Amino acid sequence: MKKIAVLGSTGSIGTQTLEIVRTNGDIKVTALAAGSNIELLEEQIREFRPKLAAVWNEEKASELKTRVRDLDIKIVSGMDGLLEAASEPEAEILVTAIVGMIGILPTIEAIKAGKHIALANKETLVTAGHIIMPLAEENHVSILPVDSEHSAIFQSLQGGQEKALHKILLTASGGPFWGRRREELENVQVEDALKHPNWAMGRKITIDSSTMVNKGLEVIEAKWLFGVSVDQIQVVIQPQSIIHSMVEYVDGAVIAQLGTPDMKLPIQYALYYPQRRFLPGDRLDFSALSQITFEQPDMETFCGLKLAYEAGRAGGTLPTVFNAANELAVAMFLERKIRYLEIPEIIGACMEVHKNIEFPDVEQILKTEQETYEFIKNRW
Ligand code: NDP
Repeated sequence: MKKIAVLGSTGSIGTQTLEIVRTNGDIKVTALAAGSNIELLEEQIREFRPKLAAVWNEEKASELKTRVRDLDIKIVSGMDGLLEAASEPEAEILVTAIVGMIGILPTIEAIKAGKHIALANKETLVTAGHIIMPLAEENHVSILPVDSEHSAIFQSLQGGQEKALHKILLTASGGPFWGRRREELENVQVEDALKHPNWAMGRKITIDSSTMVNKGLEVIEAKWLFGVSVDQIQVVIQPQSIIHSMVEYVDGAVIAQLGTPDMKLPIQYALYYPQRRFLPGDRLDFSALSQITFEQPDMETFCGLKLAYEAGRAGGTLPTVFNAANELAVAMFLERKIRYLEIPEIIGACMEVHKNIEFPDVEQILKTEQETYEFIKNRW
């Protein structure tokens, strides 16, 4: 029986991971972690019976402890709790479905403890890919992509020769505002940006998809996962979200992975890799499919994508600034403190003043994150 731990079990990826565990019936969950949603976490504990559960919020952790006192389970909290959940001794795979840079330290802890990583938490690779990838190699653990595009690339590389990879064609739906010009985005409200045409996801990533910052984060994530330069990664708009990404080999052959938009496929693929398992759900019906179309990204309107290429090309702490500035700007937009178009403006302003550190350690990455937050708080 496979054993897994899930960080961010109450979120969009976390709950879908547990759905896969439920349908397959041959995976044991040894640890769960959430931020503060102890109601759902308690339900998950009662159903999956992990040995350990971590709650970020201390008060909520002690409330949960009382609620599950009839069970044989250890409840922990804060960063120490997250680290304990990430390195729970019995788990073979850690699913990092937590949101934000908070994922860096637990991911490092898990790799050091010899766990394979099913990675959804892209912020970790974006900001600390230069630390995570060599560490994984050193500890002989795999980083298995959960993000649908990266899973598609990973699947397209199976049986191929990674050395013969020429370029990555990273597909994007374009989000709810595809086709609009910059001036048409002036009055975008939170509700408009939260309406993704094809995917149901957490709030932060849904906003990121609408600004195309998510695609930018994915470009940097792909750079680390597949060992290519950002200029070998071409973003292709494919509004129907049927092609989940493609690779082009040196001989010109293009291999793609297609499917209906369902995150359970990449999650299940990461959990059972290299096996494929039956997955209930819709299938692509080519007789009903009217068209698959392609367009170039509009980097002027969606300038967050352009900034991501800049950050990915420079490396060092600049991707951290890109990511942290976006995290805070999105949170401010969700709280209706800034306008929609201020999100990329804030990212650009932070990147402009930053003095890049070429090979930062974790401490420098986390310090850069805090400095970026401070800069924004002082100016906006
Ligand atoms: P959600 O917002 O839906 O869920 C986030 C999860 O992280 C929740 O379980 C939340 O707990 C938990 N969490 C937040 N802060 C902490 C903390 N400090 N300590 C412990 N747990 C915490 O996010 P998504 O599932 O959408 O995204 C998760 C990650 O996966 C992100 O990095 C995202 O970019 C990536 N991703 C998501 C995709 C999707 O389809 N959703 C697709 C590809 C990648 P609580 O509920 O208690 O707040």
